[in-house]
Amino acid sequence: VNLGSAFVLQTATSNLRPMAERLADGLVAAGPALFCLFSPGENSALPPYLAAAAAIESRLFPTLVFDPDKGDTLAECFSLGTNPQPDRDWPIHSFTYEDEQMQAVTENLPFTAIDFLAADPSSADAFRLVPRHQWSEEMVPVGDYLQAGTAQNGSQVPFVLAVGLDDRLQRVAVKSAAVQLAHRIARRWRRLQELGGINNSHARRALDEARQAWESEKQKPTEGSSVPSSMQVARPDEHPSNVPAAAAPQANGKVEPAAPPSCEEAWIETPRCTSCNECTNRNPRMFRYNANKQAYIADLHAGTYHELVGAAESCKVAIIHPGKPWNPNEPDLEDLLHRAEPFR
Ligand code: SF4
Repeated sequence: VNLGSAFVLQTATSNLRPMAERLADGLVAAGPALFCLFSPGENSALPPYLAAAAAIESRLFPTLVFDPDKGDTLAECFSLGTNPQPDRDWPIHSFTYEDEQMQAVTENLPFTAIDFLAADPSSADAFRLVPRHQWSEEMVPVGDYLQAGTAQNGSQVPFVLAVGLDDRLQRVAVKSAAVQLAHRIARRWRRLQELGGINNSHARRALDEARQAWESEKQKPTEGSSVPSSMQVARPDEHPSNVPAAAAPQANGKVEPAAPPSCEEAWIETPRCTSCNECTNRNPRMFRYNANKQAYIADLHAGTYHELVGAAESCKVAIIHPGKPWNPNEPDLEDLLHRAEPFR
């Protein structure tokens, strides 16, 4: 990206077919083109296709495209779109196994940089197999451990699950060097996300400042209106799902502005939409444009809360407010609510 005028494509050999079009773009680019491919070495313990896919999944080797011919802005030129679940720190997949009572158990687990290392025999020193009789309450799944960050309890031991040669589930403790590496990979990935318009820290800060301004303005009693002027501009679209209660004429002839939508409901500050296509591309049934080509929520139930929160995080002007989830059975709700908090 820093090269500015060069076409850049980074991907792995497992992903060449989906990237064929972008490869072709690079080959006919007006300026120089840089192709950076991850290809597992001969000593890889996994089949080459799986090792390459694991490198992408674990964020060790994210896919990216920078195409300077697409426009003037990063939003137009830079894309992380072919990474799995690009709005998360780590992609989450379900893992099903049989417990000691022969019952099927399914867990949603992140695939982290540590999982990639665990499949590489040359990184064996970073792990220690923990016999079943030594399993304890202090052992925490590595995904939870990484998420806790500096709040980690010093006595906790992160582990990854592995399947032994006897087909039995094993816990493998992770040493601190591998954890530090995973933190570095996650930090690097978050910076890439920002370049790709995901979880943008400038947008978050602007949103926090706007919220604080709104909160302090709300405290001040104002003549003739209970709603601050800044909020009156930020009206949702006229679509029924986005419309707050109608403005009511008062006995004195003044019209009181309608109350803002409750933070329980999802809504978009439609008049501020920049028509960037980010949310409408994610789910064109959930998000639609009005006649002014500004987004509104057309059908909340046409997608998941996960999609809605992801759209809120990707919206560069931070105007999508996800409200509360509507399906109590959706996975990862706790995490999603935490991510939605800055946009309430
Ligand atoms: S609501 Fe945000 S993400 Fe959606 S089109 Fe408008 S500016 Fe883009």
